Amino acid sequence: MSPTIPKTQTAAVVPSSGAAIEIRNEHPVTQQDQLAPGECLIKLSCTGVCHTDLHAALDDWPLPAKTPLVGGHEGVGEVVAIGNNTSHSPVKIGDRVGIKWLADSCLGCEQCRKGREQNCLEAKLSGFTVDGTFQQYVVSYVNHVTPIPEGFDSNAAASILCAGVTVYRAIKHSQTTPGDWIVLPGAGGGLGHLAIQYAKVAGLQVIAVDTGAEKKKLCLELGADKWIDFQETKDIVEEIKALTDGLGAHSALVTAASSSGYKQAIEYLRGGGTLMAVGLPGRASLEASIFFTVFKSISILGSYVGNRQDAMEALAIAARGEVKCNYELQHLNDLSSVYEGMTSGHVAGRIVLEMPK
Ligand code: NAD
Ligand code: ZN
Repeated sequence: MSPTIPKTQTAAVVPSSGAAIEIRNEHPVTQQDQLAPGECLIKLSCTGVCHTDLHAALDDWPLPAKTPLVGGHEGVGEVVAIGNNTSHSPVKIGDRVGIKWLADSCLGCEQCRKGREQNCLEAKLSGFTVDGTFQQYVVSYVNHVTPIPEGFDSNAAASILCAGVTVYRAIKHSQTTPGDWIVLPGAGGGLGHLAIQYAKVAGLQVIAVDTGAEKKKLCLELGADKWIDFQETKDIVEEIKALTDGLGAHSALVTAASSSGYKQAIEYLRGGGTLMAVGLPGRASLEASIFFTVFKSISILGSYVGNRQDAMEALAIAARGEVKCNYELQHLNDLSSVYEGMTSGHVAGRIVLEMPK
C-alpha cells in the first residue's frame, strides 16, 4: 500500500528576493496525481545547510533564484510517490534516497552524454530553480535522486550530497598524485572539512587555511598536515612555500565563499600547479597574473558539484567511514539562526536540520 501523503506540511520559505525566511506550517504538499512522469515525492528526514542556500536566500549571485523559494539541496528521505506513466524508474516507493543540487538534467544532450550533467542547459537545481529540501516533502526526479548506501546514517549522509560530492569531484580533477601538497582555503567550513578528508583518501598532503581555534582543532583532527590562520598569518605565500620545500603547493582547492580566499593562490602554487575554483562569491573576479599563469604553466579550473556517478562514489567512501561529516543537528525551524552563524563564520563543519516529526 502506498504511504499516506498529507495535504500540508512545514516549509521554510523565502517569500521574495532577499526577504527573511518564514516558517510556514500550512505549506501545500504535491499529491501523487499532481506528479508529472519522471517526478517523485520524497518524505525527507533531514537536510544539510550549504552556503549556497545562503547565497540563494540573499540573492547575491548573478543568476536569480525562483521566488517564492524553498531552499535546500542536501536532503535524505524516502520515496513515497512516483508520477503516473514513469517508465524505467531506477527507484521505487520505500527507497531511501538523497537530493542533491542537480535535481534533474535531460540525460540526452552533449553535456549529459559526456558526464557533465551539471552543465546541461535543461538542468533543474534544488532550492534554486525548483523548490528544495527545507520542507518535509519535496518533489524530485527519479533519474537524479541518489540511492543512500544501506546502513549509512541519514544525518551523516546529508551533506555528502552537495559538500561531499563537490569536493570529491574537485579533488579528482585537481591534477594531483599521491604525496602532492594541496592547499584548502575554507578548510573549516562545510565543503572544506570534507575536502581535508577526501584529500587524505587521495593520498595528498593537506595545508588547511581558515581562521579561529575551533576550526583549527577540527581541521587537524580530521587529518590536515598543516594549519594556517588566514587572519593571523602575515604572509600566506611565504608560509605555504616554507611548508612545501620552497616550491609551493601542487594544487589549491578554494571553498571560501569570499574572493579573499582566492587571493595569492597563483603565487603559492608551484610550476604546473592547479587552482580548483569551487567557492562562489557572486560578484567577484578572479585576479591572476597572466604572466605568471603562463610562465608557471598554471591550470585554473572551475568545478561545479558533480554528476550522478560522482555522487555515488562520494557516498560510498563516506559510507565506509573513510570520510565523516562533522555536523551539529538542529531543527528546520532554526534555519535563520543557522544563516546568521554561517554569515559570521561561526559554523565549523556543517549544520544538519531535522524535519518536524
Ligand atoms: P562555509 O561557510 O561552511 O565555509 C566557508 C569557509 O571559508 C568558512 O569556514 C570561512 O571561515 C572560510 N573563509 C572565508 N574567507 C577565507 C579566506 N580568505 N581564506 C580561507 N578561508 C576563508 O561554506 P560552504 O558551505 O563550505 O560553501 C563554500 C562556498 O562554496 C560557497 O560560496 C558555496 O556557494 C560554494 N559551493 C560551491 C559548489 C560548487 O559546485 N562549486 C558547491 C557547493 C558550495
Ligand atoms: Zn551546496
